[in-house]
Amino acid sequence: MDLVHEGVLRKFESLKGNLIVGKVGIKGNNSNERLPPDQYVPEAHILHNLVRGFYKPAGKPYILSYQATESNKNYGKQIIWKDTHQNQFLRIEMAPPNKEKDPIKKSDIEAARYNLNHNIPIGILYKIKKGHNRVLGLGTITSERADGVFVVEPFSFKDSASRPLEELKTLVEDEEINTSFVAEVIQRRGQAVFKKKLIANYTECAICGIDEPSLLIASHIKPWKYSSNLERLDRFNGLLLCPNHDRLFDQGLITFSDNGMIIISKLLTPKTKTLLGLTDNMQIYLVEDHKKYIDWHRENCFRNTQ
Ligand SMILES: [Zn+2]
Repeated sequence: MDLVHEGVLRKFESLKGNLIVGKVGIKGNNSNERLPPDQYVPEAHILHNLVRGFYKPAGKPYILSYQATESNKNYGKQIIWKDTHQNQFLRIEMAPPNKEKDPIKKSDIEAARYNLNHNIPIGILYKIKKGHNRVLGLGTITSERADGVFVVEPFSFKDSASRPLEELKTLVEDEEINTSFVAEVIQRRGQAVFKKKLIANYTECAICGIDEPSLLIASHIKPWKYSSNLERLDRFNGLLLCPNHDRLFDQGLITFSDNGMIIISKLLTPKTKTLLGLTDNMQIYLVEDHKKYIDWHRENCFRNTQ
């Protein structure tokens, strides 16, 4: 994500809830078809081109923003509201352009997939009526349904705390310095943010209940080295575990089914299982957002044979 792109997204976040009347506040006026640089974006830019729902900036692989339109005909189908007065949506169903011969359709879909695969947020405008757009903030595309609809869920930079990480990552790329040290710093800072998030939600080892804070480890379900930056900081990609259970999980000697039932590796002897407090009927609490990570762990980390 470059500075301009990230700046536009941050601007979307800061404008959340604002009603923009006319197109000048979205793409500039006629004499200067862009918005001037500001505190968020270091160069001239636009939020959306107002031509079609998807806005993919020329030459970029991603969608920058989406304009949801709710005519009476499709009311309640495109934006699933959490709270209309607060302009909070639960979900937006982003249907791709439906004209069969639309030449831009294919590139729009590819761009949306790019956002999906790279966890790149998009800005959301809600067109209430002609020339009246409400900024709904940011969303991330979380899935592509079989019917071609892209599902968007709310996103906030404030929650993701990804900025320090991005900055350090840029440093690594720019300086081309030996990355092992810097990578370690990034990992340590990321881990600290991640642990804070888990501690805010859990107080004890998910498996045995040990609750001494200094012993608890924020364990990634999908390991750090395989995760994207957003996945690294996603609290649903984590379990709070005591040292023994962290190590067992990290080593792939235990994993969990989608409903949280423990799966214990055949490599562990009955004696070790007993000493580590493991029984086959253990279950941890998982929610829907954990599942993609747990699936990944079960498929790629768990080992039942040498
Ligand atoms: Zn434990």
